[in-house]
Amino acid sequence: MLLCLDCGKETENGHDLMCCPNCQSTGIPIDTEKLLTVRTSWHELRILVMWAERWASALPDKQESEKMLRIVYRIADRMQQQHLDQECGLTFASELAELRASPYVTGEIEQNVIREIPPERG
Ligand SMILES: [Zn+2]
Repeated sequence: MLLCLDCGKETENGHDLMCCPNCQSTGIPIDTEKLLTVRTSWHELRILVMWAERWASALPDKQESEKMLRIVYRIADRMQQQHLDQECGLTFASELAELRASPYVTGEIEQNVIREIPPERG
């Protein structure tokens, strides 16, 4: 199976595929038969994900930035789903969401670290 990083849908691995049949992305998909296990720590993953998140946020083209952020979040989400026992998320956006949901925080939280994007629909 091939997993599209743009839309998150899986597709049969056909040799004549030129793009994702769901979203027409031409980005390189994940070959789910090539998944691997890496020995690391949550902290190291957080560093890498947050750097990627920050870099994607800093792209001057807003549309491209949001597309890259969605890919970073999709990857982070796949990793988080494998470790729901962790005390925190992998992204700065998840930390922001946690802070905003806290009963101890009142008022707006301003930040200029990442571009915040609306949640995906569907
Ligand atoms: Zn797709």
